[in-house]
Amino acid sequence: MEVIKGIPVAPGVVIGRAFVLEEVVERVPFHTVSPDEVAGELVRLDTALETASAALEADRDRAAEKLGAEPAKIFEFHLGLLKDRSLIDPLRARVEDDRVTAAYAVAEAFRALADRFRSMGSEVFRQKAQDVMDLDHRVLGQLVGQSRDRLARITEPVIVVAHDLTPAQAAQLDTSKVIGFAADAGGRTSHASIVAAAAGIPVVVGCQRITEFVSDGEEVIIDGRAGMVIVRPDAPTLTRFRHSMERMAGHATRIRELAKLPSHTTDGVRIELMGNIEFSHEIKLLLEHGGDGVGLFRTEFLYLTRATEPTEEDHFQEYKHSLELLAGRPLTIRTVDLGADKYTQERAEEPERNPMLGLRSIRFCLQNIPMFRTQLRAILRASAYGQIRVMFPLISTSMELRQTKMILADVMEECEEEGIEFDPNIPIGIMIEVPSAALMASAFAREVSFFSIGTNDLIQYTLAVDRGNERVANLYSAAHPAVVQLVKAVTRTSKRFQVETSICGEIAGEALYTMLLIGLGLRTLSLVPSQIPHVKRVIRSVDVPTCERLARKVGSFDSERQVLNCLREELEKVLPDIEDGWSVA
Ligand code: PEP
Ligand code: MG
Repeated sequence: MEVIKGIPVAPGVVIGRAFVLEEVVERVPFHTVSPDEVAGELVRLDTALETASAALEADRDRAAEKLGAEPAKIFEFHLGLLKDRSLIDPLRARVEDDRVTAAYAVAEAFRALADRFRSMGSEVFRQKAQDVMDLDHRVLGQLVGQSRDRLARITEPVIVVAHDLTPAQAAQLDTSKVIGFAADAGGRTSHASIVAAAAGIPVVVGCQRITEFVSDGEEVIIDGRAGMVIVRPDAPTLTRFRHSMERMAGHATRIRELAKLPSHTTDGVRIELMGNIEFSHEIKLLLEHGGDGVGLFRTEFLYLTRATEPTEEDHFQEYKHSLELLAGRPLTIRTVDLGADKYTQERAEEPERNPMLGLRSIRFCLQNIPMFRTQLRAILRASAYGQIRVMFPLISTSMELRQTKMILADVMEECEEEGIEFDPNIPIGIMIEVPSAALMASAFAREVSFFSIGTNDLIQYTLAVDRGNERVANLYSAAHPAVVQLVKAVTRTSKRFQVETSICGEIAGEALYTMLLIGLGLRTLSLVPSQIPHVKRVIRSVDVPTCERLARKVGSFDSERQVLNCLREELEKVLPDIEDGWSVA
């Protein structure tokens, strides 16, 4: 039995068989297969090599046709390598003798060869090393494709174990088959984690080397609340976790009942509970959990889940459909937040050195105006069909906001000229997720109708901690006094200027923070739909003066530990059974 500690992302316990998803990444984990799987791995290897060869030959023939025979010769080096027995035979032997996976054997052999070329110094050899790595990706791409096909053919539920996933890959996990997810990499609020958590399955990330400890088909337990993965559990552990699952199943009825109850504190103050979604199909779950509307629609997922850029009509249909599902409830559309870990790096001619601080989000939109206008037109068109609010992400300067609003005004004018119906008073808001925006909230307050505090990014930019990096995950905390102070400053300013303010970072869905957020003055929270009942349970157990006292006390602390201890103590006072699998803490 192997107990691996990771970062808790989405609560719940599952027991199931592991499905190890290989990916074309820089580090393919060391993995062995059982003796009876060796033959299958060799077939996979041969097929991958043959398919990569065939694809290269096709590329060579196309190049010969377009450019002539001479330039097409550059493919001969690649093709020669794939047929080179001195490379391929040891690779096959590694699978046969040591039972490593085909993917690992390929990565190991190709990368060793690339290293040898690199060590030879000259530019010509460095280029050869690059050619070898291109080839490595081609062959691994085939093997990964096969592993995806295997996932598609699976009939019984599995727990997916991966090194890392991009947000787009996470969005494509088929949750009718995937009952849990664990990864080596990632942080609490990395986008892949957020998307996996939205599926309502237990998720643990940042496990460092879990892919090396677990093989396909092995029994695994995921405890999403404790952030723990147990590989090959022994009998007493299995019994303990089965009991815990039974206890949680007992809570399901209470959760369903809570969904129907109003969301107000014991002294009658209403707290609006909106949902964060990535796709319109999540609205069903949102309403089943008693959500009041959509507080954050991460529309970039429209780009991440299709091969071509969505058209105006694609956007429009998605928003109109969302409004129909919401039946009169509000829909807050955040304009595309691409860049950083999403989309642009794979397509960039030259990857950015520091993408989290680079051309992402509204900055990317302002440099890709035709694409941005397409989305704005669709939002405006949809606004004729229901309550839409438009929200701009990652605003960091007033100029940026003004420029954005000018583009929106221009698109409105265009729609008017074309006789397109839209809501001319569509509420415009911004996300406060950069310290500069939080500190300058009063300047922005004059320009917008609402703020939404995005703590996922606000934490990373305030504390200088990459939200997706498991190696610094211990430094990423909403309980850092600097973060608490910024949230407090924004809620104060919004009160003074009467700007509606909500919070949509993941802490809005963590019961541990609910009292603090109410105490800081927030009356609208936007969160992952599956957490709505848990947060509502806290809301219905507390009164506002108690929460305000807690917020004042927390405001006097100068360490994260003090803040966390205080939040835990106060929550346990009102809900002593909160630790009993009821909520993420
Ligand atoms: C945030 O940054 O808090 C947020 C809600 O946006 P995202 O998680 O999509 O970056
Ligand atoms: Mg953000």
